Amino acid sequence: MSALLQERSGSTRTFLVDEQYQLQKVLGSLALMKIEHGILVTADLRVTGVGLECSSCVTQFKADLDISFQEEFMPKYHPEFGTLLPSEADDFRIDDRMVLNISEALRQYLETEIPIAPRCQQNCLGLCSGCGQNLNTDECACKEQS
Ligand SMILES: [Zn+2]
Ligand SMILES: [Zn+2]
Repeated sequence: MSALLQERSGSTRTFLVDEQYQLQKVLGSLALMKIEHGILVTADLRVTGVGLECSSCVTQFKADLDISFQEEFMPKYHPEFGTLLPSEADDFRIDDRMVLNISEALRQYLETEIPIAPRCQQNCLGLCSGCGQNLNTDECACKEQS
């Protein structure tokens, strides 16, 4: 990482990602390009096993979410002089050891990818309004009576 920071603008590196991040697995690729003041990261990732709750039948299920983003990461310290660099509060930073920490960016983008009303399956039948039975797993008696 520190090596890339000292290269000229336009130098690129691509990394394959296959990592466990908290309870989820993250797969995909990260393309890093040296830009004038830092590193431009282009992420193309899939997060597997994200725990969601169906908005229709209230069943917990796991889904895969695709996350793509492009963000500039700035080093906290000048790569040559070691001096603290000024920053905007919401900059993504490359930490003291010159390690690019994408987990914060990942967390933020993951939040935006989570659907507002997730469905366990496209044609989820939901819960019976009469007895609360999950109609995906079983029929209930209400239906026969009507
Ligand atoms: Zn459902
Ligand atoms: Zn019912």
